[in-house]
Amino acid sequence: MSALPAHLPPADWRGREGLDALCTALGADAGEARFVGGAVRDSLLGIPVKDVDIATVHPPQDVIRRIKAAGFKAVPTGIAHGTVTAVLHHWPVEITTLRRDVSTDGRRATVAFATDWREDAARRDFTMNALYADPRGGTLHDYFGGLDDLAARRVRFIGDPAARIAEDHLRILRFFRFTARFGALDRGSADYAACVVHAASLMALSRERIADELLTLLALPDPSEVLAAMVEDGVLRPVLPEVTLAGVAALRALLTAEREAGCAPDGLRRLAALLPDKTGAEQIGARLRLSNKARARLNAMRAPVEAATPEALAYRLGTQGAIDRILLGRAFTVEAIGRIRDWPVPQMPLSGGDLIAMGLSAGPQVAKALQALERAWVAAGFPPADATRAMAAQMIVSLLRATQ
Ligand code: ATP
Ligand code: MG
Repeated sequence: MSALPAHLPPADWRGREGLDALCTALGADAGEARFVGGAVRDSLLGIPVKDVDIATVHPPQDVIRRIKAAGFKAVPTGIAHGTVTAVLHHWPVEITTLRRDVSTDGRRATVAFATDWREDAARRDFTMNALYADPRGGTLHDYFGGLDDLAARRVRFIGDPAARIAEDHLRILRFFRFTARFGALDRGSADYAACVVHAASLMALSRERIADELLTLLALPDPSEVLAAMVEDGVLRPVLPEVTLAGVAALRALLTAEREAGCAPDGLRRLAALLPDKTGAEQIGARLRLSNKARARLNAMRAPVEAATPEALAYRLGTQGAIDRILLGRAFTVEAIGRIRDWPVPQMPLSGGDLIAMGLSAGPQVAKALQALERAWVAAGFPPADATRAMAAQMIVSLLRATQ
């Protein structure tokens, strides 16, 4: 009944330089290492694979030794959790020792290394994320019905949803993310119901983890259906109570604009669309512990800015900032993006020093005159240096006259 391939199908990533040698070093021929997670899932769906994860029976120190013996760099990226990154020709592969949970508290897990594949599979979140494939023959190992669920686009917890959410609350957001990415949204499923009932437990998570997961969800091609369900069923309330269905409608408008303009999805821009005008970007940036750069961008997307032309907007906010605002419906129409996308934002050709050299005496009037000149320069459509100099000369003459 499953319409998926019976073996891991050939895919670009399998031919990446060094991968074969790494698999050999990890004992793949003896069944000691398997591909797992997103790489297996996405290959089965025939979509591009981002990162490759390998699970292995060998303990981390042994993994490090084997990676080095094969001539690759080994970075202990998450050694406490059993993860070592092998760097193959600038391309990282994460290798994790089989594990089982010893204790969990909703935020972090204490793990023990194990040698049982089924046990390792059991602590993963969804059945479609617990598929393993032998690197050699591509034989699939599916302990919890993940292939059928993947074929049916069903995001299903392994085991009891409420118990799995209690172990790690982030799985609520991961459920919505994978549903938006692969799933058919089924608001009647037991998995969905558990996520809704336990949504308040999200508050126990660190803001950074929530923000990361939310922004990843928002950056998917079309998260709007899942977002609407999350708003209607109160899942976002503990995190972003200000988001309403009006915000989801604004998100849909943004998706249309992005498509029309051929702009790639962007999580932060979509967050900006979801928030009502009256909500301060500062407040959200602080709550989600966004980076300073992200906060500045969110702010620029929402603060009032006046600009008479798309070019003037790009001059004020930079190309990215101007495109953000246009896509968000806050300035001009989508066609304007074509005008500024590859337009080299010019630099004001004159400085305060130039004005002084042209006869203006040093002092506070220089900054004022320079600002006035910049406004005139923008309004005149960014003329080149000569023409700007002429504008400045005229301005200085009238300033000098006024002070005589
Ligand atoms: P993506 O394409 O988004 O990277 P992925 O399936 O590779 O998808 P990752 O977040 O990279 O997802 O995690 C790799 C694997 O680790 C998952 O497929 C899943 O098996 C397991 N995993 C990750 N996070 C959790 C979690 N919170 N609880 C249980 N298992 C998890
Ligand atoms: Mg991954």
